[in-house]
Amino acid sequence: MTLAELGWSKFFAEAFVPYEAKGWVPARLIRETPINFSAFLGEDEEGELEEIDCVLGGKVWHDAANDADLPAVGDWVAVELGDENTDHVIRARLPRRSCFSRKMPGKTVEEQVIGANVDVVAVVTDSGPDHNPRRMERYFALIGRSGAKAVVLVNKADLFPKAHNEACAAELRELCPEADVHVTSALGGKGLGVLKKYLKKGVTMCVVGSSGVGKSTLVNQLYGEEWQWTSEVNEVTGKGRHTTVSRELVPLPKGGMLIDNPGMREIQMWTDEQTLRESFADVEARSAGCRFADCKHGNDKDCAIRAAVAAGTLDLQRLESFLNLDDEIEQLRHLAKKRQITVERWAKRNSRVKARNLNDRIQLEEDERGEWRD
Ligand code: GDP
Ligand code: ZN
Repeated sequence: MTLAELGWSKFFAEAFVPYEAKGWVPARLIRETPINFSAFLGEDEEGELEEIDCVLGGKVWHDAANDADLPAVGDWVAVELGDENTDHVIRARLPRRSCFSRKMPGKTVEEQVIGANVDVVAVVTDSGPDHNPRRMERYFALIGRSGAKAVVLVNKADLFPKAHNEACAAELRELCPEADVHVTSALGGKGLGVLKKYLKKGVTMCVVGSSGVGKSTLVNQLYGEEWQWTSEVNEVTGKGRHTTVSRELVPLPKGGMLIDNPGMREIQMWTDEQTLRESFADVEARSAGCRFADCKHGNDKDCAIRAAVAAGTLDLQRLESFLNLDDEIEQLRHLAKKRQITVERWAKRNSRVKARNLNDRIQLEEDERGEWRD
């Protein structure tokens, strides 16, 4: 695989110029563990994809203003290659073209990157029980913010009348004109064709959506026989089960790459309060037309929002979800709190490991190289 097939482009090449002068090489991060990173270097002399383990350079660590600044899966980095006795060291992270991050729940403003440089996000849904424009709105808001392209697959088309599928697709297109919406039937192999259109050389995709909509079916088709992807996520470890090696950025046999990690899979869970509010901004704006500033949009006189529903310019269901906003936010906070407890426990452990490694590394680098701060 060439660098271009891994997603390398003019954008990254330009950012890389100063690092090239130092003799460092570009690599793309495919996995992060508590102690190091794995990265693709492009192909070796035999044309095999070369994979290395590397550690974070002290300067990158020190210069990072926060967690979101640190290299993450999908990032392009500049690596100083070591030899038999020294580690490969990440000396810099290149700028991102797109970035999926989650704001850590609670009062902190910590942001955590769950995937960098994702070009296409495929949201899988169906025109039956999973159909939910409100949820899709949130997906669209999150994808829009990341900088990736939104593609929606209205899957399981074989189970519903054609007109029904098309009406659902039309509704979603109206909801988000920037998104491409396709009707697919992953089980019958119709879906693969549509995705191939996006999975060009160097394109990175991720697949999200509720459980049971057909994500694994689709992804398994893309991988071919040798891979079994499963969307089950272990609640305790947060890890999905792959029967082959666990990598979070995986090149697909017929082109393109897939980013898949627990954070990506839970993308529907981490809609934050702000995104939730944003997705109702249009309804909120209408309330300016209500007669009373504290209008509850129930029985109050001259309510602009109810008037809009009566006039058919606002969907009743949408009004109901808007009225439930506080409940939803409350639920979100509850969920966030539960997650935070788990995350904190892991973070504490990881930072201890990282700190220990960093100390060892600084010592080692100082011993071997003299000065590591330039
Ligand atoms: P995931 O949880 O999103 O990964 O969903 P799966 O890929 O595991 O699919 C859930 C179930 O839906 C499985 O039994 C699939 O065989 C089935 N399924 C997936 N795609 C289709 C489809 O296009 N049509 C029909 N009828 N069933 C499908
Ligand atoms: Zn009102």
